Amino acid sequence: MPQGVAVLGSTGSIGTTALRVLDRHRERFAVRALTAHANAALLRAQEQDWSPSFVALVEGDGDAPSSWRRGASALVEAAMRADVQVVLNAIVGAAGLDATLAALGAGKRVALANKESLVVGGALVEAAARQGGGEVVPVDSEHSAILQCLAGRSASDVRRLVITASGGPFREWPDDRVRGASVQDALNHPTWSMGRKITVDSATLANKALEVIEAHFLFGLGYDQIEVVVHPQSIVHSMVEFRDGSVLAQLGVPSMELPILYALTHPDRIEDAGIPAFDPVTAGRLSFEAVRHEVFPCLRLGVTAGRAGGAAPAVFNGANEEAVALFLEGRVSFGAIADGIEAALDRHAALPGGTREALWQADAEARRTVRESLGCH
Ligand code: NAD
Ligand code: MG
Repeated sequence: MPQGVAVLGSTGSIGTTALRVLDRHRERFAVRALTAHANAALLRAQEQDWSPSFVALVEGDGDAPSSWRRGASALVEAAMRADVQVVLNAIVGAAGLDATLAALGAGKRVALANKESLVVGGALVEAAARQGGGEVVPVDSEHSAILQCLAGRSASDVRRLVITASGGPFREWPDDRVRGASVQDALNHPTWSMGRKITVDSATLANKALEVIEAHFLFGLGYDQIEVVVHPQSIVHSMVEFRDGSVLAQLGVPSMELPILYALTHPDRIEDAGIPAFDPVTAGRLSFEAVRHEVFPCLRLGVTAGRAGGAAPAVFNGANEEAVALFLEGRVSFGAIADGIEAALDRHAALPGGTREALWQADAEARRTVRESLGCH
């Protein structure tokens, strides 16, 4: 019997890549639920290809078939279905949180690309997994690398994690030019092809802050044990230093296919001739350098929010989502993204974060402060 898979965010970069991987393993996995935000045409093509028992279009035009579910509650429904064992959460943003909580509460494996779930509601995600018996397996390439290097060792064997960052398109830009970078410049990622929001996050390094917080919750390590290093070739996906000083790394070409496959099969490994092969000679030189924190303040802002705990990571995330959306709309400068986040954290970092409602409140406050401080009403 194949395992039932729900692909949430099936029309996005991770969603379409996941369906390409799943297509090579139809004997092992059956896609039983598909959800998308607004791309009805692509969702319809995916439905024809996979014949899932559940399809949902959250928003978008009215010409969706009547068999499709509508509205955000459909994400939670998809995540809890009895014919689904693995929920691949490839939604972008805090909008993915409720589906993660629902899936874990229903005892599912969550193959988690939606790192914002853990950033906004890390403690709630942990509690849902404990109570419902579900488990989170990361899709993010850095965390997949760490999971693979850990190979079942516990947190007490780990001295530190070293998360690699490509450095984004502005790695070598002079600092006075970065603040005024255009949308087109920011979307021009040197090594990875991804959705627009995470591509901008990679340019500001906010993505690495999200990933540090994600690692803190996934692997149960303190923030002092998680470091970020710039590695422009994106071949070493991350490293784990153990307490005896040994350092293990996981390598591969920059493709999400392997981390997606591994999140589905962990701890097993299966044959897949379609995964792009790695050749060290082609990869050539691998280099590492320090992060230019003065030029990319979002990383420190986010890690500081992570350390503060409570609602601070949700404030960081909500502020970042809002500021990035404004930047992509051409309404604020690249440099304003960090300014907006800083204003939101200054005002709201101490808000309580114990419940889902408190976190959504913090998210809303953060977004409001970003708009106000950046003059976007
Ligand atoms: P994307 O923008 O390409 O796709 C997002 C998907 O989510 C789409 O299918 C869209 O329909 C859906 N969606 C968007 N807003 C929604 C909403 N409010 N409600 C329901 N569905 C919604 O994004 P992506 O690059 O595929 O990234 C998805 C997630 O994976 C993000 O959390 C990102 O950080 C993470 N991630 C992506 C990559 C990558 O290579 N693209 C790598 C690591 C992690
Ligand atoms: Mg990543």
